[in-house]
Amino acid sequence: MYEVKKSGRNACQFYTAAMQMESEHKHVLYNELVSAINNEQLMVYFQPVVDAVSGMIVSCEALVRWPRADGSWVAPDVFIPVAEERGLINRVDLLVLQRSLESIRQLNRQLDRPIGLSVNVSPKLLHLRDDDAQQWLRVLEGEHEVAITIEITERVLIDEVGNTSKVLEQIHAAGVNIAIDDFGTGYSGLSYFSRFPVSAVKIDRSFVRDLGQRATQTTLVETILLLARKLGIQVVAEGVETAEQASILRDNNCDFLQGYFISKPIPEKEFMALVMAQQDKNKA
Ligand code: C2E
Ligand code: CA
Ligand code: CA
Repeated sequence: MYEVKKSGRNACQFYTAAMQMESEHKHVLYNELVSAINNEQLMVYFQPVVDAVSGMIVSCEALVRWPRADGSWVAPDVFIPVAEERGLINRVDLLVLQRSLESIRQLNRQLDRPIGLSVNVSPKLLHLRDDDAQQWLRVLEGEHEVAITIEITERVLIDEVGNTSKVLEQIHAAGVNIAIDDFGTGYSGLSYFSRFPVSAVKIDRSFVRDLGQRATQTTLVETILLLARKLGIQVVAEGVETAEQASILRDNNCDFLQGYFISKPIPEKEFMALVMAQQDKNKA
């Protein structure tokens, strides 16, 4: 806008220039991402999910991390959309699934009570249009050791593009759980609960943040918990940052908690040490 005012040219020109800059930026990011994948620079971090009552770690969410050679990190919110637009996301999701499964398999062999693994899945992957997506499905179907949950957003169920619902049925039949991520942000009706095999919802961070501060948000969370209970669906609260939030959630029968209050996402070794330490403490 400032440029337009300064130059007196039309707005269309400025918009085009801005778009060009953005597209160049994305192109650079894309090329960098391709080489990060090829050079195995992408990492997986794990964030614990705990039982709301006992505090025991019952599962974890695998989150992709991209550390650059210069020591900076590219946030998933920045590169995941680029990967989705340019057809790289299936490679990323396959890689995260394979790596995280390997880590949790190894960890579970040392545990008395095995933990589960949640992975995020891009809607694009569920169309199963390329080799990476097909391979991803085969990995899921072939896994009999680790209890896996795939996290999808409400959008996937509302849009129902192509054969998504068939794929979800197939995944469910293979014993994989399906969780609705960012639950409550999709402006959706709730009818998909009767059409899809959903076993858990993850209450979005935006609702959890204002728990105890704003009456409306608190009522919304209480209502989601009540609804889930009636439907026989488990609830994970995301973005739990304070003891007060945790206690309100517990009082309202929320099943599981995830957030900085428990732990940030951490590297594999650190995560394994955390789980082992909790097991040892519990035995003592
Ligand atoms: P998400 O699936 O909703 O993941 C939760 C995000 O919230 C993570 O951000 C996590 O680090 C952050 N978080 C967890 N607890 C707290 C908390 O207490 N407070 C705050 N402020 N934040 C918290 P992250 O790792 O940056 O990931 C962002 C998004 O990128 C994810 O949102 C997910 O949609 C996407 N993503 C991450 N990894 C993958 C992946 O492997 N595949 C795909 N397709 N998407 C991924
Ligand atoms: Ca997630
Ligand atoms: Ca989420």
